Amino acid sequence: MADNRSPIWHPFTQHGLGEPIPKIEQARGALLHCANGNTLIDGISSWWVITHGHCEPRIVTAIQEQAALLDQVILAGYTHGPAEQVAQGLIRLTGKELRSPDPLAHVFFSDSGSTAVEVGLKMALGYWHNIGQPRHRIIVMEHSYHGDTIGAMSVGERGVFNQAYTPLLFDVVKIPFPVAGAEQETLDALEAACGDPDTPAAFIVEPLILGAGGMLTYDAALLRTMAEICGIHDVLLIADEVMTGWGRTGTAFACTQAGITPDILCMAKGLTGGAVPLAATLSRSRIFDAHVSQDRAKMFFHSSSFTANPIACAAAAANIAIWESEDVPARIAAISAHMAERLDALSDHPTLENPRHVGAIAAIDLKVPQGAGYLSDVAPALRAFFLDEGLLLRPLGNTIYAMPPYCISHEQMDRIFDAIGTAADQYAR
Ligand SMILES: *Cc1c(COP(=O)(O)O)cnc(C)c1O
Repeated sequence: MADNRSPIWHPFTQHGLGEPIPKIEQARGALLHCANGNTLIDGISSWWVITHGHCEPRIVTAIQEQAALLDQVILAGYTHGPAEQVAQGLIRLTGKELRSPDPLAHVFFSDSGSTAVEVGLKMALGYWHNIGQPRHRIIVMEHSYHGDTIGAMSVGERGVFNQAYTPLLFDVVKIPFPVAGAEQETLDALEAACGDPDTPAAFIVEPLILGAGGMLTYDAALLRTMAEICGIHDVLLIADEVMTGWGRTGTAFACTQAGITPDILCMAKGLTGGAVPLAATLSRSRIFDAHVSQDRAKMFFHSSSFTANPIACAAAAANIAIWESEDVPARIAAISAHMAERLDALSDHPTLENPRHVGAIAAIDLKVPQGAGYLSDVAPALRAFFLDEGLLLRPLGNTIYAMPPYCISHEQMDRIFDAIGTAADQYAR
């Protein structure tokens, strides 16, 4: 365990509970090796970032070689090989996946999912501003999560997470989550929001599955219809693929399954295979073109110090090469099939409900009596139970989910699902 006098202020951690804080020394594949000799199965890909597995040899080599060649350089008015390689690779890959006559054509780099979202929102507002039709309102979906910076929180679900900051958050237009059977309500709300005479600038949405909001899934056909509604009203569609990107839903991008191309696509987490931070916001030509002018006041006013860091780009280029040379979706399909089987077996469990899965993500809810939710008392208890079982799992309230790296074995997955069954016996009340 880490020294409890450590000055580290941990994210999303209530230090007052005194929960154990395991110290991780090494990681390989789907395993984390702790300083105390324990080994954990990384059931959540180290918070949804690791895709192929920890320390994937080709990504490690790419990082090592790049670090010795060019560590960091300014991207404002300069360029470098790894950034060019990644930008071209992203345009090639999204073009092949999404097959649109008006494809994603430009890549803006940043360094986290939150910044990729901020950039996407600024691109959308900048577009309307620069073409002389200013629009400021953003449509969002209930239960969404888009990051923890002020702008990203503004377009995300409001709750205990951002209560202290609400005076700073901007107003948005919220449509309901498409609960199975009540999808039409969502479509009607989107139609009404898009049709408002004060036309919104954009609709931002997590395609196919809302992650931090509780692993809530909806159909690809519905995503397609929502994209069509935005298209009819010329409201820009921003797809937040920060979690869903790089295979989580079974295809490289979730938008593939709906056969849509968003106007703006945000990616981060798995872009480098999860090894180092890097994010990208892709846009269609018209958004970039609206920022091209002899007028310097129309340039895109955004940068972060490490924009397109060469080491991170080298890792992303290696990741893209893996996607282009191997059948990664086949690997995910095998995981998905095994998950479906194990989840099906748990669906009869008297204290579990709402089993759902998409690609390599499986989720199920533990029945809890009092108002379930993120702060449900059961979450820390479950976390501790899973840690004892040698598993890194971090339930969202009473929602237990697995989102492993694509190298996980069936035996390792079985240990996760066996433990979920045991937890359901012990922790439901
Ligand atoms: C994680 C996440 C983000 C934020 O990404 P960070 O890299 O943590 O800033 C944004 N959107 C979605 C859908 C996410 O899952």
